[in-house]
Formats: sequence, structure tokens, C-alpha cells
Amino acid sequence: MIDELRREVCRLHAELVRYNLVAWTAGNVSGRVPGEDLFVIKPSGVSYDDLTPESIVVCDLDGNLVEGDLAPSSDTAAHAYVYRHMPEVNGVVHTHSTYASAWAARGEAIPCVLTAMADEFGGEIPVGPFALIGNDDIGKGIVATLNGHRSPAVLMQNHGVFTIGGSPKAAVKAAVMCEDVARTVHISRQLGEPLPIAQGDIDRLYDRYQNVYGQRSHL
Ligand SMILES: [Zn+2]
Repeated sequence: MIDELRREVCRLHAELVRYNLVAWTAGNVSGRVPGEDLFVIKPSGVSYDDLTPESIVVCDLDGNLVEGDLAPSSDTAAHAYVYRHMPEVNGVVHTHSTYASAWAARGEAIPCVLTAMADEFGGEIPVGPFALIGNDDIGKGIVATLNGHRSPAVLMQNHGVFTIGGSPKAAVKAAVMCEDVARTVHISRQLGEPLPIAQGDIDRLYDRYQNVYGQRSHL
């Protein structure tokens, strides 16, 4: 089970590169081990080309290394805090993707002005507090912002993006979509003020996308 998750999380790091969300070694994906108080995460400072399933490390929910030869990502404490406090979350992604981080640098939430945003995020993408690495402050900021919020993505002020999901793949998808809408809304802003979408329409779009869209599992 853990080996399969290591392969999946290793493979998902290649998606961060493919979608141009990361530079050098910044950015990481983690996944909760089903039924265990453990998660797997990228090792610290290893380039994406050198990542192998065996190099992905296993940590407990306090962020301590349980299995692996390398030190875990420097963002491990933030991932661990999310898993401790949000039991429904099984995947966490962190990036400094360009357009989303540009919104984070201004401390400005991305307004819901695209139907794709209403579908995926159910409203604006919120901003979390400024927090330094080294303790639980980043994790606390992520959880305080996303708990009870529809958005699976938070822009941590002056920093970058954290996304959550029911699986590591879902969290990666949220990171890709967050950068996509951050870019489009930024470009829209260059030529004027983007038009808001009425809350009732946001609610209808979100409900349809979350509950009806896509391939129904029973078909
Ligand atoms: Zn970071």
C-alpha cells in the first residue's frame, strides 16, 4: 500500500513540472497512507528528475521521518498539520506557481469571475496569513482559511499556493487549476475590471460540477 502511494506521489511530481508550476526544487506533493497515521512526501532538495518512488519518504502526522534515507521536504510540518486537523484530506500540494504567487504577493484573493472558477473552487480563492517556515504557523494558516471553505486552494500571503484534496491527484488538479485561473484573471485585469458572477449562479455551477459533471462512476 505504501509502495503504491510512493509511486503515485512520485509520478504526480512530474505533473508539477509538466504544468510549469515549479522552479528548481520548490514545490511538493504528499499523500496520506489510507488507514494509518502516516503520509508520504517529497524528500528535501532533490531535483524532480532524480525523484524515484524509493526516494519518497514516509512521515508520521507530527512530521517525523518514519521511513526513508533522505530528509523530508522543508514544508513537511505544514502538510502534517493539515493531515492532523482535516481528516477528509488525503493529498496536499505546495507550489510557488507564478501567477497565483503574484496574487499572494499582493495579499489579494482571486475573485470568482470565470465559470471554471465557480466549478472548481465554488467562489474566490482565498488568502491565508503571512507565516514563517519553522513551526506550525503555515499549517495553522492553511487550516484556518480552508476549513469550511469550498476552495481547495489557499494563497498564503507573500508565499505561494497550498491545495488540498480527497486524493493526491485531486490536490494536484487544484494546483493546476489555481494557476490557470490566476493567470486568466490577471490578464483580464490588465484591460479593465473583470465582471463578477452572481452568487446564485456560482452556487449552481459549483453544485452541477461537483455532483453531475464527468463520468458517473456507476455508468
Ligand atoms: Zn513555499
